[in-house]
Amino acid sequence: MIVPALPERGAGRFAPTPTGDLHLGNARTALLAWLAAEAAGLRQILRVEDLEPAAIPPGCLSGQYADLDWLGLRYDEDPRRGGPAGPYRQSERFGAYDAVLRALDALGLLYPCWCSRREVRDAARAPHASDEGPVYAGTCKPAHAVPLGDLGALPRRRGRVPALRLDAHAALDRLALAEVTFEDAIAGPQRFDVRGTMGDFVVRRRDGVAAYQIACAWDDAAMGCTQVLRGADLLPSTARQVLLLRLLDRPLPTYAHVGLVTGPDGTRLAKRDGAQSLRSLRERGHDATEVRALLASMSGLPATGDLRELTAAFDLGRLSPAPAA
Ligand code: GLU
Repeated sequence: MIVPALPERGAGRFAPTPTGDLHLGNARTALLAWLAAEAAGLRQILRVEDLEPAAIPPGCLSGQYADLDWLGLRYDEDPRRGGPAGPYRQSERFGAYDAVLRALDALGLLYPCWCSRREVRDAARAPHASDEGPVYAGTCKPAHAVPLGDLGALPRRRGRVPALRLDAHAALDRLALAEVTFEDAIAGPQRFDVRGTMGDFVVRRRDGVAAYQIACAWDDAAMGCTQVLRGADLLPSTARQVLLLRLLDRPLPTYAHVGLVTGPDGTRLAKRDGAQSLRSLRERGHDATEVRALLASMSGLPATGDLRELTAAFDLGRLSPAPAA
């Protein structure tokens, strides 16, 4: 696994998935991540998380760039400008993810899984599901995991190409950890019983593409991200990413998970809620300063849209992990 030579200064990042227009919730995360990095004097990175490039709706990527430009957020490194840690689109980084998977395999922590989604659900012992679905019952788990070697040549079973799972139990044993813990700058101390509530999670999907957990954890490390500010819905993902970074012997960034933005009815905003999209706000004649001021004030920051003033006044301690309407 090759980490490029990077500037000593750490980085903050915004890492959207191009599935639709950015809405007020995404915009708030983008703004807060930008302010946090700016206030700490970090490089600003925009990373496009397009592990499924074929699923990007037409015009989505250029629309997201236009939204961020309009919001006034400038990045030092992004897919358009490039930079020392590039490429900045995950669809162009698959080789790096393969190397990460080989490194985990060399530790004897991966095993192939031929189960369908339905089989995983039916075999699950507990009805409770984590953010990634039911805890895997271990149907395909070998008694003793050994390195698989050529990850490109795993056998099919019942005509199926396998996914790859991380043996979370063996991973925790290797690190002599009972649970995954980390300190969150907004949400406070976190503990996750990965064995009991998450189980062996998928690190490479059946289509051969690395799972989001691998791509995101690795990119944060390889891009020198020292600060990760994102939505509180990703806290359980962070537990998996912390586990992966520890296995890969990489430093952890400072994590800060901010409460989600909800609509007036209390449900979380989705990209399909067109009325809340930046594009529609822009088209209805709102200006960016006004939108920044709204996002700042709903986050407990001073109600100004001036980026310089917001940077000067920025304080992670004022942000809340609770949802904001
Ligand atoms: N790409 C993810 C999303 O849009 C965010 C990942 C992250 O910030 O780590 O939900």
